[in-house]
Amino acid sequence: MLTRGTVVIDVEACKGCDLCIDACPPRVLEMTVHEVNGRGYRYPRLLPGCTGCKACSQICPDFVFQVYKYDDPVEILA
Ligand code: SF4
Ligand code: SF4
Repeated sequence: MLTRGTVVIDVEACKGCDLCIDACPPRVLEMTVHEVNGRGYRYPRLLPGCTGCKACSQICPDFVFQVYKYDDPVEILA
């Protein structure tokens, strides 16, 4: 999977609202199923294929994401 960027996820800041999941164009964010943060909320995880588009950081009400775009795409095996 060609990956052009990555995100740092501040898990403890997440309120589990799910908004970022549908906002991600390549759909490379998925919510945890069983794992929760210290406040009891499920939170997103990043799968390979991030484009660094920043849609997640723009929609998240709680500033959970820091987005980084790679200078050169990298191949990440799923
Ligand atoms: S930067 Fe874009 S592609 Fe990457 S996780 Fe966020 S919304 Fe998805
Ligand atoms: S949009 Fe932000 S607060 Fe909502 S689930 Fe995603 S990371 Fe958590």
